[in-house]
Amino acid sequence: MIKGIAASAGISVSKVFKLQHPVVNVERREANVDEEIKKLADAITATQNDIEAIKANAVGRLADEELAIFDAHLMVTQDPEFVGQIEEVIKSENVNAEFAVNQIASTFIGMFESMDDPYFRERAADIKDVTYRIQTHVLGLIIPDLTTINEEVVIVAEDLTPSDTAQLNRDFVKGFATEIGGRTSHSAIMARSLEIPAVVGAGALLDKCEHGQDIILDAIDGVIIFNPSDAQKEEYAAKGQAFADHKESLKALKDAESKTTDGHVVELAGNIGTPKDVEGVLNNGGEGVGLYRTEFLYMDASELPSEEDQFVAYKEVLENMAPGRVVVRTLDIGGDKELSYLKFPHEMNPFLGYRAIRLCLDRTDIFRVQLRALLRASVYGKLSIMFPMIATLQEFRDAKALVEDEKKNLSKEGIAYSDDIELGMMVEIPAAAMLADQFAKEADFFSIGTNDLIQYSMAADRMNEKVSYLYQPYNPSILRLVKMTIDGAHKEGKWCGMCGEMAGDEKAIPLLLGLGLDEFSMSASSILEARRIIRDLSFAEMQKLAEEALNKATTEEVLELLSQYVK
Ligand code: PEP
Ligand code: MG
Repeated sequence: MIKGIAASAGISVSKVFKLQHPVVNVERREANVDEEIKKLADAITATQNDIEAIKANAVGRLADEELAIFDAHLMVTQDPEFVGQIEEVIKSENVNAEFAVNQIASTFIGMFESMDDPYFRERAADIKDVTYRIQTHVLGLIIPDLTTINEEVVIVAEDLTPSDTAQLNRDFVKGFATEIGGRTSHSAIMARSLEIPAVVGAGALLDKCEHGQDIILDAIDGVIIFNPSDAQKEEYAAKGQAFADHKESLKALKDAESKTTDGHVVELAGNIGTPKDVEGVLNNGGEGVGLYRTEFLYMDASELPSEEDQFVAYKEVLENMAPGRVVVRTLDIGGDKELSYLKFPHEMNPFLGYRAIRLCLDRTDIFRVQLRALLRASVYGKLSIMFPMIATLQEFRDAKALVEDEKKNLSKEGIAYSDDIELGMMVEIPAAAMLADQFAKEADFFSIGTNDLIQYSMAADRMNEKVSYLYQPYNPSILRLVKMTIDGAHKEGKWCGMCGEMAGDEKAIPLLLGLGLDEFSMSASSILEARRIIRDLSFAEMQKLAEEALNKATTEEVLELLSQYVK
Protein backbone atom coordinates (compact mmCIF):
# COMPACT_ATOMS: atom_id res chain seq x y z
CA MET A 1 0.00 0.00 0.00
CA ILE A 2 1.42 3.38 -1.05
CA LYS A 3 0.17 6.68 0.40
CA GLY A 4 -0.21 9.82 -1.69
CA ILE A 5 -2.34 12.95 -1.76
CA ALA A 6 -5.98 12.45 -2.74
CA ALA A 7 -6.37 15.12 -5.40
CA SER A 8 -9.65 14.24 -7.11
CA ALA A 9 -12.09 11.96 -5.28
CA GLY A 10 -13.18 8.56 -6.55
CA ILE A 11 -12.12 4.93 -6.55
CA SER A 12 -10.89 2.82 -9.40
CA VAL A 13 -10.07 -0.89 -9.56
CA SER A 14 -8.34 -1.29 -12.90
CA LYS A 15 -5.09 -1.96 -14.78
CA VAL A 16 -1.86 0.04 -14.81
CA PHE A 17 -0.97 2.12 -17.86
CA LYS A 18 2.66 3.09 -17.33
CA LEU A 19 3.33 6.48 -18.83
CA GLN A 20 7.10 6.29 -18.92
CA HIS A 21 9.32 7.16 -21.80
CA PRO A 22 11.90 4.37 -22.19
CA VAL A 23 15.59 5.23 -22.01
CA VAL A 24 17.40 4.49 -25.26
CA ASN A 25 20.92 3.15 -24.92
CA VAL A 26 22.90 3.86 -28.11
CA GLU A 27 26.24 2.24 -27.40
CA ARG A 28 28.26 1.27 -30.47
CA ARG A 29 28.40 -2.48 -31.14
CA GLU A 30 29.86 -4.63 -33.94
CA ALA A 31 26.88 -6.20 -35.69
CA ASN A 32 25.70 -8.23 -38.65
CA VAL A 33 25.03 -5.80 -41.49
CA ASP A 34 22.07 -7.64 -43.06
CA GLU A 35 20.33 -8.08 -39.71
CA GLU A 36 20.79 -4.43 -38.81
CA ILE A 37 19.56 -3.20 -42.21
CA LYS A 38 16.43 -5.31 -41.74
CA LYS A 39 15.93 -4.06 -38.17
CA LEU A 40 16.19 -0.50 -39.44
CA ALA A 41 13.69 -1.07 -42.25
CA ASP A 42 11.21 -2.74 -39.84
CA ALA A 43 11.65 0.03 -37.29
CA ILE A 44 10.99 2.68 -39.93
CA THR A 45 7.81 0.92 -41.05
CA ALA A 46 6.66 0.54 -37.44
CA THR A 47 7.41 4.22 -36.83
CA GLN A 48 5.37 5.22 -39.87
CA ASN A 49 2.48 3.06 -38.64
CA ASP A 50 2.69 4.70 -35.20
CA ILE A 51 2.61 8.17 -36.65
CA GLU A 52 -0.36 7.37 -38.91
CA ALA A 53 -2.23 5.87 -35.95
CA ILE A 54 -1.52 8.81 -33.65
CA LYS A 55 -2.58 11.21 -36.36
CA ALA A 56 -5.80 9.31 -37.09
CA ASN A 57 -6.61 9.35 -33.38
CA ALA A 58 -5.93 13.05 -33.08
CA VAL A 59 -8.12 14.12 -36.02
CA GLY A 60 -10.98 16.15 -34.64
CA ARG A 61 -9.16 16.66 -31.34
CA LEU A 62 -6.24 18.75 -32.61
CA ALA A 63 -6.19 21.74 -34.95
CA ASP A 64 -5.03 21.32 -38.55
CA GLU A 65 -1.70 23.00 -37.91
CA GLU A 66 -0.99 20.63 -35.02
CA LEU A 67 -1.89 17.66 -37.21
CA ALA A 68 0.60 18.91 -39.79
CA ILE A 69 3.39 18.06 -37.33
CA PHE A 70 2.65 14.37 -37.92
CA ASP A 71 3.06 14.86 -41.68
CA ALA A 72 6.43 16.47 -41.05
CA HIS A 73 7.40 13.45 -38.95
CA LEU A 74 6.35 11.07 -41.72
CA MET A 75 8.43 13.04 -44.19
CA VAL A 76 11.54 12.52 -42.07
CA THR A 77 11.04 8.74 -42.19
CA GLN A 78 10.63 8.91 -45.97
CA ASP A 79 13.63 11.12 -46.64
CA PRO A 80 16.01 9.07 -48.84
CA GLU A 81 18.98 11.17 -47.80
CA PHE A 82 18.37 10.58 -44.09
CA VAL A 83 17.61 6.85 -44.37
CA GLY A 84 20.33 6.27 -47.01
CA GLN A 85 23.03 7.79 -44.86
CA ILE A 86 22.04 5.61 -41.88
CA GLU A 87 22.27 2.47 -44.05
CA GLU A 88 25.64 3.65 -45.26
CA VAL A 89 27.00 3.90 -41.71
CA ILE A 90 25.74 0.38 -40.88
CA LYS A 91 27.38 -1.06 -44.00
CA SER A 92 30.68 0.78 -43.86
CA GLU A 93 31.24 0.48 -40.11
CA ASN A 94 29.53 -2.88 -39.35
CA VAL A 95 27.63 -1.26 -36.49
CA ASN A 96 24.25 -1.62 -34.80
CA ALA A 97 21.27 0.22 -36.29
CA GLU A 98 20.39 2.38 -33.25
CA PHE A 99 23.95 3.69 -33.15
CA ALA A 100 23.93 4.50 -36.87
CA VAL A 101 20.57 6.28 -36.50
CA ASN A 102 21.98 8.33 -33.67
CA GLN A 103 25.07 9.31 -35.58
CA ILE A 104 23.27 10.56 -38.68
CA ALA A 105 20.42 12.12 -36.74
CA SER A 106 22.88 14.11 -34.59
CA THR A 107 24.47 15.56 -37.72
CA PHE A 108 21.10 16.57 -39.17
CA ILE A 109 19.87 17.96 -35.83
CA GLY A 110 23.07 19.97 -35.33
CA MET A 111 22.76 21.38 -38.85
CA PHE A 112 19.11 22.41 -38.47
CA GLU A 113 19.57 23.80 -34.96
CA SER A 114 22.27 26.16 -36.16
CA MET A 115 20.03 27.73 -38.81
CA ASP A 116 18.50 31.17 -38.33
CA ASP A 117 15.16 30.36 -39.90
CA PRO A 118 12.73 29.17 -37.16
CA TYR A 119 11.11 26.83 -39.68
CA PHE A 120 14.31 24.83 -40.00
CA ARG A 121 15.00 24.95 -36.28
CA GLU A 122 11.64 23.27 -35.73
CA ARG A 123 12.68 20.53 -38.15
CA ALA A 124 15.44 19.64 -35.65
CA ALA A 125 12.73 18.86 -33.09
CA ASP A 126 10.92 16.69 -35.66
CA ILE A 127 14.08 14.68 -36.32
CA LYS A 128 14.69 14.21 -32.59
CA ASP A 129 11.18 12.91 -32.12
CA VAL A 130 11.30 10.53 -35.07
CA THR A 131 14.81 9.31 -34.25
CA TYR A 132 13.73 8.43 -30.74
CA ARG A 133 10.77 6.47 -32.08
CA ILE A 134 12.89 4.56 -34.64
CA GLN A 135 15.47 3.68 -31.99
CA THR A 136 12.85 2.39 -29.55
CA HIS A 137 11.50 0.13 -32.29
CA VAL A 138 14.97 -1.15 -33.14
CA LEU A 139 15.46 -1.98 -29.46
CA GLY A 140 11.97 -3.43 -29.00
CA LEU A 141 10.97 -0.74 -26.47
CA ILE A 142 7.47 0.69 -26.23
CA ILE A 143 6.62 4.39 -26.14
CA PRO A 144 3.32 4.82 -24.33
CA ASP A 145 0.73 6.83 -26.25
CA LEU A 146 -2.23 8.25 -24.37
CA THR A 147 -4.37 8.76 -27.45
CA THR A 148 -4.41 5.07 -28.32
CA ILE A 149 -5.78 3.86 -24.98
CA ASN A 150 -8.86 1.77 -25.69
CA GLU A 151 -9.45 -0.14 -22.47
CA GLU A 152 -10.05 0.94 -18.88
CA VAL A 153 -6.78 1.94 -17.18
CA VAL A 154 -5.23 3.97 -14.39
CA ILE A 155 -2.28 6.01 -15.65
CA VAL A 156 0.86 5.86 -13.51
CA ALA A 157 3.38 8.59 -14.29
CA GLU A 158 6.00 10.83 -12.78
CA ASP A 159 3.64 13.74 -13.53
CA LEU A 160 1.18 14.66 -16.27
CA THR A 161 1.65 17.77 -18.38
CA PRO A 162 -1.37 19.93 -19.28
CA SER A 163 -1.24 18.51 -22.82
CA ASP A 164 -1.18 14.94 -21.45
CA THR A 165 -4.30 15.67 -19.44
CA ALA A 166 -5.92 17.33 -22.44
CA GLN A 167 -5.54 14.07 -24.39
CA LEU A 168 -7.11 11.85 -21.73
CA ASN A 169 -10.19 10.00 -22.88
CA ARG A 170 -12.57 9.84 -19.94
CA ASP A 171 -14.25 6.72 -21.30
CA PHE A 172 -11.10 4.71 -20.70
CA VAL A 173 -8.90 6.61 -18.26
CA LYS A 174 -10.32 5.73 -14.86
CA GLY A 175 -7.76 7.54 -12.80
CA PHE A 176 -4.17 8.58 -12.46
CA ALA A 177 -1.41 8.31 -9.92
CA THR A 178 1.66 10.54 -10.02
CA GLU A 179 4.98 10.54 -8.22
CA ILE A 180 5.15 14.30 -7.75
CA GLY A 181 2.74 17.21 -7.29
CA GLY A 182 0.25 18.36 -4.66
CA ARG A 183 -3.45 19.21 -4.40
CA THR A 184 -2.91 22.51 -6.18
CA SER A 185 -0.54 21.35 -8.91
CA HIS A 186 -2.04 21.70 -12.35
CA SER A 187 -2.43 17.98 -13.00
CA ALA A 188 -4.52 17.77 -9.82
CA ILE A 189 -6.65 20.73 -10.82
CA MET A 190 -7.22 19.23 -14.26
CA ALA A 191 -8.16 15.87 -12.73
CA ARG A 192 -10.88 17.53 -10.72
CA SER A 193 -12.26 19.44 -13.68
CA LEU A 194 -12.29 16.24 -15.76
CA GLU A 195 -13.74 14.38 -12.73
CA ILE A 196 -11.06 11.69 -13.00
CA PRO A 197 -9.95 10.18 -9.65
CA ALA A 198 -6.33 11.12 -8.93
CA VAL A 199 -3.70 10.49 -6.28
CA VAL A 200 -0.64 12.72 -6.63
CA GLY A 201 2.72 13.18 -4.90
CA ALA A 202 2.94 9.48 -4.00
CA GLY A 203 6.76 9.22 -4.35
CA ALA A 204 8.39 6.42 -6.37
CA LEU A 205 5.71 4.50 -8.30
CA LEU A 206 7.09 3.62 -11.72
CA ASP A 207 9.72 1.31 -10.21
CA LYS A 208 7.06 -0.52 -8.27
CA CYS A 209 4.61 -1.50 -11.00
CA GLU A 210 4.36 -3.23 -14.36
CA HIS A 211 2.35 -2.16 -17.38
CA GLY A 212 -0.97 -4.04 -17.39
CA GLN A 213 -0.78 -5.05 -13.72
CA ASP A 214 -3.89 -4.77 -11.48
CA ILE A 215 -4.17 -1.59 -9.44
CA ILE A 216 -6.47 -0.08 -6.85
CA LEU A 217 -6.59 3.71 -6.79
CA ASP A 218 -8.37 5.08 -3.75
CA ALA A 219 -8.49 8.81 -4.41
CA ILE A 220 -10.69 9.40 -1.35
CA ASP A 221 -8.02 8.44 1.18
CA GLY A 222 -4.98 8.76 -1.12
CA VAL A 223 -4.04 5.09 -1.34
CA ILE A 224 -2.51 3.08 -4.22
CA ILE A 225 -2.29 -0.72 -4.16
CA PHE A 226 -0.46 -2.62 -6.91
CA ASN A 227 -1.33 -6.29 -7.41
CA PRO A 228 -4.26 -6.31 -4.96
CA SER A 229 -5.78 -9.53 -3.62
CA ASP A 230 -9.31 -10.51 -4.66
CA ALA A 231 -10.55 -9.55 -1.19
CA GLN A 232 -9.03 -6.06 -1.56
CA LYS A 233 -10.56 -5.66 -5.01
CA GLU A 234 -13.97 -6.49 -3.56
CA GLU A 235 -13.51 -4.18 -0.60
CA TYR A 236 -12.56 -1.22 -2.79
CA ALA A 237 -15.20 -1.92 -5.40
CA ALA A 238 -17.75 -1.68 -2.56
CA LYS A 239 -16.19 1.56 -1.30
CA GLY A 240 -16.31 2.90 -4.86
CA GLN A 241 -19.97 1.95 -5.14
CA ALA A 242 -20.82 3.71 -1.86
CA PHE A 243 -19.04 6.82 -3.13
CA ALA A 244 -20.93 6.67 -6.42
CA ASP A 245 -24.24 6.22 -4.55
CA HIS A 246 -23.53 9.25 -2.36
CA LYS A 247 -22.68 11.29 -5.47
CA GLU A 248 -25.91 10.17 -7.06
CA SER A 249 -27.92 11.23 -4.00
CA LEU A 250 -26.36 14.70 -4.16
CA LYS A 251 -27.85 15.21 -7.60
CA ALA A 252 -31.15 16.03 -5.90
CA LEU A 253 -29.49 19.32 -4.86
CA LYS A 254 -28.61 20.36 -8.40
CA ASP A 255 -31.23 23.08 -8.61
CA ALA A 256 -31.51 23.79 -4.88
CA GLU A 257 -30.58 27.14 -3.37
CA SER A 258 -27.21 27.51 -1.61
CA LYS A 259 -28.90 28.77 1.54
CA THR A 260 -28.22 28.18 5.25
CA THR A 261 -30.89 27.04 7.71
CA ASP A 262 -31.32 30.68 8.78
CA GLY A 263 -31.72 32.04 5.26
CA HIS A 264 -28.24 33.34 4.36
CA VAL A 265 -27.61 32.83 0.63
CA VAL A 266 -24.20 32.41 -1.02
CA GLU A 267 -23.15 31.67 -4.60
CA LEU A 268 -21.52 28.37 -5.58
CA ALA A 269 -19.52 28.55 -8.79
CA GLY A 270 -17.09 26.35 -10.72
CA ASN A 271 -13.43 26.72 -11.72
CA ILE A 272 -12.74 25.89 -15.35
CA GLY A 273 -9.70 25.56 -17.59
CA THR A 274 -11.35 25.17 -21.00
CA PRO A 275 -14.75 25.95 -22.55
CA LYS A 276 -15.60 22.24 -22.43
CA ASP A 277 -15.54 22.34 -18.61
CA VAL A 278 -18.70 24.49 -18.46
CA GLU A 279 -20.74 21.35 -19.02
CA GLY A 280 -19.41 19.85 -15.76
CA VAL A 281 -20.23 23.07 -13.88
CA LEU A 282 -23.82 23.04 -15.17
CA ASN A 283 -24.28 19.32 -14.51
CA ASN A 284 -23.15 19.84 -10.94
CA GLY A 285 -25.48 22.74 -10.25
CA GLY A 286 -22.88 25.53 -10.48
CA GLU A 287 -24.46 28.98 -10.50
CA GLY A 288 -21.62 30.57 -12.45
CA VAL A 289 -17.93 30.31 -13.29
CA GLY A 290 -15.85 31.89 -10.53
CA LEU A 291 -12.50 31.30 -12.22
CA TYR A 292 -11.74 30.65 -15.87
CA ARG A 293 -8.00 29.97 -16.01
CA THR A 294 -7.28 31.29 -19.50
CA GLU A 295 -3.63 30.22 -19.45
CA PHE A 296 -4.61 26.77 -20.76
CA LEU A 297 -5.61 28.45 -24.02
CA TYR A 298 -2.03 29.67 -24.29
CA MET A 299 -0.35 26.53 -22.94
CA ASP A 300 -2.10 24.15 -25.32
CA ALA A 301 -1.09 26.17 -28.38
CA SER A 302 2.14 26.34 -30.36
CA GLU A 303 2.02 30.13 -30.66
CA LEU A 304 0.18 33.00 -28.99
CA PRO A 305 -3.55 32.42 -29.55
CA SER A 306 -5.05 35.00 -31.91
CA GLU A 307 -7.75 37.49 -30.90
CA GLU A 308 -10.23 35.47 -32.95
CA ASP A 309 -9.33 32.13 -31.30
CA GLN A 310 -9.69 33.71 -27.88
CA PHE A 311 -12.95 35.43 -28.80
CA VAL A 312 -14.45 32.09 -29.88
CA ALA A 313 -13.44 30.41 -26.58
CA TYR A 314 -14.72 33.25 -24.35
CA LYS A 315 -17.97 33.57 -26.30
CA GLU A 316 -18.62 29.84 -25.94
CA VAL A 317 -18.15 29.97 -22.16
CA LEU A 318 -20.29 33.11 -21.74
CA GLU A 319 -23.13 31.81 -23.90
CA ASN A 320 -23.22 28.40 -22.24
CA MET A 321 -23.13 29.84 -18.72
CA ALA A 322 -25.63 32.67 -19.31
CA PRO A 323 -27.37 34.14 -17.41
CA GLY A 324 -24.82 33.03 -14.79
CA ARG A 325 -21.73 35.13 -14.21
CA VAL A 326 -18.35 34.15 -15.70
CA VAL A 327 -15.21 35.47 -14.02
CA VAL A 328 -12.42 35.30 -16.58
CA ARG A 329 -8.92 35.61 -15.20
CA THR A 330 -6.50 37.29 -17.55
CA LEU A 331 -3.31 35.48 -18.50
CA ASP A 332 -1.56 34.04 -15.44
CA ILE A 333 1.63 32.67 -16.91
CA GLY A 334 5.13 32.36 -15.45
CA GLY A 335 6.11 30.71 -12.17
CA ASP A 336 5.49 27.01 -12.83
CA LYS A 337 3.52 27.72 -16.01
CA GLU A 338 5.67 28.31 -19.07
CA LEU A 339 4.95 28.71 -22.76
CA SER A 340 7.13 26.82 -25.22
CA TYR A 341 6.98 29.68 -27.71
CA LEU A 342 7.65 32.57 -25.35
CA LYS A 343 11.10 33.04 -23.84
CA PHE A 344 11.08 33.66 -20.11
CA PRO A 345 14.16 35.03 -18.39
CA HIS A 346 15.92 32.57 -16.11
CA GLU A 347 15.02 33.54 -12.55
CA MET A 348 16.22 32.49 -9.12
CA ASN A 349 12.66 32.61 -7.76
CA PRO A 350 10.15 32.26 -10.58
CA PHE A 351 7.17 32.34 -8.17
CA LEU A 352 8.36 35.76 -7.00
CA GLY A 353 9.30 36.91 -10.44
CA TYR A 354 8.09 37.96 -13.82
CA ARG A 355 4.63 36.44 -14.09
CA ALA A 356 0.89 37.09 -14.42
CA ILE A 357 -0.08 40.78 -14.34
CA ARG A 358 3.58 41.79 -14.09
CA LEU A 359 4.27 40.18 -17.44
CA CYS A 360 1.02 41.45 -18.98
CA LEU A 361 1.68 45.06 -17.99
CA ASP A 362 5.13 44.75 -19.55
CA ARG A 363 3.99 42.89 -22.69
CA THR A 364 0.92 45.00 -23.38
CA ASP A 365 1.04 43.73 -26.98
CA ILE A 366 0.00 40.30 -25.65
CA PHE A 367 -2.36 41.67 -22.98
CA ARG A 368 -4.31 43.97 -25.30
CA VAL A 369 -5.17 41.07 -27.64
CA GLN A 370 -6.74 39.21 -24.73
CA LEU A 371 -8.62 42.27 -23.50
CA ARG A 372 -10.06 42.96 -26.96
CA ALA A 373 -11.19 39.36 -27.30
CA LEU A 374 -12.85 39.53 -23.87
CA LEU A 375 -14.59 42.84 -24.57
CA ARG A 376 -15.90 41.60 -27.90
CA ALA A 377 -17.22 38.43 -26.22
CA SER A 378 -18.83 40.39 -23.37
CA VAL A 379 -22.10 40.93 -25.27
CA TYR A 380 -22.79 37.16 -25.17
CA GLY A 381 -23.26 36.78 -21.42
CA LYS A 382 -22.36 38.18 -18.02
CA LEU A 383 -18.62 38.84 -18.00
CA SER A 384 -16.39 39.80 -15.09
CA ILE A 385 -12.69 40.34 -15.79
CA MET A 386 -10.20 39.49 -13.05
CA PHE A 387 -6.49 40.37 -12.88
CA PRO A 388 -4.12 37.86 -11.23
CA MET A 389 -1.27 38.58 -8.80
CA ILE A 390 -2.13 42.19 -8.08
CA ALA A 391 0.29 43.56 -5.47
CA THR A 392 -0.21 47.33 -5.72
CA LEU A 393 -3.02 49.72 -6.55
CA GLN A 394 -0.93 51.09 -9.39
CA GLU A 395 -0.95 47.67 -11.08
CA PHE A 396 -4.72 47.47 -10.77
CA ARG A 397 -5.11 51.01 -12.15
CA ASP A 398 -2.76 50.29 -15.06
CA ALA A 399 -4.64 47.10 -15.97
CA LYS A 400 -7.97 48.89 -15.72
CA ALA A 401 -6.68 51.74 -17.90
CA LEU A 402 -5.74 49.25 -20.62
CA VAL A 403 -9.28 47.84 -20.54
CA GLU A 404 -10.71 51.37 -20.90
CA ASP A 405 -8.29 52.09 -23.72
CA GLU A 406 -9.32 48.97 -25.63
CA LYS A 407 -12.98 49.88 -25.09
CA LYS A 408 -12.28 53.23 -26.78
CA ASN A 409 -10.53 51.49 -29.67
CA LEU A 410 -13.47 49.15 -30.18
CA SER A 411 -15.93 52.04 -30.06
CA LYS A 412 -13.94 53.80 -32.78
CA GLU A 413 -14.15 50.67 -34.90
CA GLY A 414 -17.88 50.41 -34.23
CA ILE A 415 -17.52 47.06 -32.43
CA ALA A 416 -19.96 46.37 -29.57
CA TYR A 417 -19.11 45.43 -25.99
CA SER A 418 -21.18 45.22 -22.84
CA ASP A 419 -21.44 48.32 -20.64
CA ASP A 420 -21.84 46.12 -17.58
CA ILE A 421 -18.48 44.38 -17.11
CA GLU A 422 -17.16 44.06 -13.56
CA LEU A 423 -13.40 44.55 -13.14
CA GLY A 424 -11.97 42.73 -10.16
CA MET A 425 -8.80 41.19 -8.89
CA MET A 426 -7.40 38.10 -7.28
CA VAL A 427 -6.24 38.60 -3.73
CA GLU A 428 -3.36 36.16 -3.56
CA ILE A 429 -0.51 38.37 -2.37
CA PRO A 430 -0.55 39.28 1.34
CA ALA A 431 0.06 42.96 0.49
CA ALA A 432 -3.27 43.09 -1.33
CA ALA A 433 -5.11 41.35 1.52
CA MET A 434 -3.68 43.80 4.07
CA LEU A 435 -4.81 46.74 1.97
CA ALA A 436 -8.13 45.25 0.85
CA ASP A 437 -10.18 48.24 2.12
CA GLN A 438 -8.24 50.54 -0.21
CA PHE A 439 -8.38 48.20 -3.20
CA ALA A 440 -12.13 47.78 -2.68
CA LYS A 441 -12.66 51.47 -3.47
CA GLU A 442 -11.52 50.78 -7.04
CA ALA A 443 -12.17 47.09 -7.72
CA ASP A 444 -15.68 45.74 -8.31
CA PHE A 445 -14.94 42.45 -6.56
CA PHE A 446 -12.25 40.25 -5.05
CA SER A 447 -11.57 36.57 -5.43
CA ILE A 448 -9.17 35.13 -2.87
CA GLY A 449 -6.55 32.84 -4.38
CA THR A 450 -5.57 30.76 -1.38
CA ASN A 451 -3.27 28.49 -3.39
CA ASP A 452 -0.86 31.38 -3.78
CA LEU A 453 -1.92 33.42 -0.74
CA ILE A 454 -0.86 30.55 1.54
CA GLN A 455 2.46 30.01 -0.24
CA TYR A 456 3.33 33.70 -0.08
CA SER A 457 2.16 34.15 3.52
CA MET A 458 4.04 31.14 4.82
CA ALA A 459 7.00 31.60 2.42
CA ALA A 460 6.58 27.94 1.40
CA ASP A 461 6.67 26.93 -2.26
CA ARG A 462 3.34 25.24 -3.07
CA MET A 463 5.14 22.68 -5.28
CA ASN A 464 7.81 21.67 -2.78
CA GLU A 465 6.95 18.55 -0.79
CA LYS A 466 9.75 19.22 1.70
CA VAL A 467 7.92 22.27 3.01
CA SER A 468 4.37 21.07 2.49
CA TYR A 469 3.89 20.97 6.27
CA LEU A 470 3.82 24.77 6.11
CA TYR A 471 0.99 24.76 3.62
CA GLN A 472 -1.66 25.45 6.27
CA PRO A 473 -5.02 26.81 5.13
CA TYR A 474 -6.32 26.71 8.71
CA ASN A 475 -3.47 28.66 10.19
CA PRO A 476 -5.06 31.62 12.03
CA SER A 477 -2.73 33.95 10.10
CA ILE A 478 -4.37 32.86 6.85
CA LEU A 479 -7.84 33.10 8.35
CA ARG A 480 -7.12 36.68 9.41
CA LEU A 481 -5.96 37.63 5.91
CA VAL A 482 -9.14 36.09 4.48
CA LYS A 483 -11.19 38.05 7.02
CA MET A 484 -9.45 41.34 6.20
CA THR A 485 -10.13 40.78 2.51
CA ILE A 486 -13.82 40.01 2.99
CA ASP A 487 -14.33 42.89 5.42
CA GLY A 488 -12.47 45.26 3.09
CA ALA A 489 -14.80 44.36 0.22
CA HIS A 490 -17.95 44.62 2.32
CA LYS A 491 -16.99 48.03 3.67
CA GLU A 492 -17.24 49.36 0.12
CA GLY A 493 -20.33 47.33 -0.77
CA LYS A 494 -18.38 44.94 -3.02
CA TRP A 495 -18.59 41.15 -3.12
CA CYS A 496 -15.80 38.79 -2.17
CA GLY A 497 -15.32 35.27 -3.49
CA MET A 498 -12.66 32.63 -3.20
CA CYS A 499 -11.35 30.52 -6.07
CA GLY A 500 -8.36 28.84 -4.41
CA GLU A 501 -8.70 25.18 -3.48
CA MET A 502 -9.70 26.07 0.07
CA ALA A 503 -13.15 27.19 -1.17
CA GLY A 504 -14.08 23.59 -1.99
CA ASP A 505 -12.54 22.06 1.12
CA GLU A 506 -15.37 20.47 3.12
CA LYS A 507 -13.78 21.32 6.47
CA ALA A 508 -13.14 24.95 5.49
CA ILE A 509 -16.61 25.73 4.16
CA PRO A 510 -18.31 26.33 7.57
CA LEU A 511 -15.47 28.65 8.54
CA LEU A 512 -15.51 30.60 5.28
CA LEU A 513 -19.27 30.92 5.49
CA GLY A 514 -18.91 32.38 8.99
CA LEU A 515 -16.20 34.78 7.81
CA GLY A 516 -18.78 36.19 5.38
CA LEU A 517 -17.54 34.86 2.03
CA ASP A 518 -20.12 35.65 -0.69
CA GLU A 519 -19.03 33.32 -3.46
CA PHE A 520 -17.27 29.94 -3.36
CA SER A 521 -15.66 28.81 -6.60
CA MET A 522 -14.32 25.26 -6.83
CA SER A 523 -13.88 22.20 -9.02
CA ALA A 524 -17.24 21.26 -10.50
CA SER A 525 -17.20 17.90 -8.74
CA SER A 526 -17.14 19.57 -5.29
CA ILE A 527 -20.12 21.90 -5.79
CA LEU A 528 -22.97 19.60 -4.75
CA GLU A 529 -21.23 18.42 -1.59
CA ALA A 530 -20.56 22.06 -0.69
CA ARG A 531 -24.25 22.85 -1.18
CA ARG A 532 -25.26 19.95 1.04
CA ILE A 533 -22.94 21.21 3.79
CA ILE A 534 -24.11 24.82 3.57
CA ARG A 535 -27.80 23.88 3.64
CA ASP A 536 -27.22 22.08 6.97
CA LEU A 537 -25.51 25.01 8.70
CA SER A 538 -26.71 28.07 10.57
CA PHE A 539 -25.01 31.28 9.45
CA ALA A 540 -25.30 32.83 12.93
CA GLU A 541 -23.55 29.85 14.49
CA MET A 542 -20.82 29.81 11.85
CA GLN A 543 -20.17 33.50 12.51
CA LYS A 544 -19.48 32.58 16.15
CA LEU A 545 -17.28 29.70 15.01
CA ALA A 546 -15.28 32.02 12.76
CA GLU A 547 -14.85 34.57 15.53
CA GLU A 548 -13.45 31.90 17.82
CA ALA A 549 -11.17 30.48 15.11
CA LEU A 550 -9.64 33.89 14.45
CA ASN A 551 -8.49 33.97 18.06
CA LYS A 552 -6.78 30.60 18.07
CA ALA A 553 -3.00 30.32 17.96
CA THR A 554 -2.30 27.30 15.78
CA THR A 555 -3.68 25.24 12.92
CA GLU A 556 -4.21 22.31 15.31
CA GLU A 557 -6.34 24.44 17.62
CA VAL A 558 -8.49 25.60 14.71
CA LEU A 559 -8.96 22.02 13.49
CA GLU A 560 -9.89 20.92 17.00
CA LEU A 561 -12.49 23.69 17.17
CA LEU A 562 -13.90 22.74 13.76
CA SER A 563 -14.29 19.12 14.78
CA GLN A 564 -16.54 20.23 17.66
CA TYR A 565 -18.82 22.29 15.41
CA VAL A 566 -19.00 20.17 12.31
CA LYS A 567 -20.13 16.58 12.18
C1 PEP B 1 -4.80 30.60 -6.44
O1 PEP B 1 -3.64 31.03 -6.41
O2 PEP B 1 -5.44 30.31 -5.41
C2 PEP B 1 -5.49 30.40 -7.71
C3 PEP B 1 -6.77 30.15 -7.75
O3 PEP B 1 -4.75 30.49 -8.84
P1 PEP B 1 -3.75 29.37 -9.41
O4 PEP B 1 -3.98 28.10 -8.61
O5 PEP B 1 -4.10 29.22 -10.84
O6 PEP B 1 -2.44 30.01 -9.16
MG1 MG C 1 -2.71 31.92 -8.16
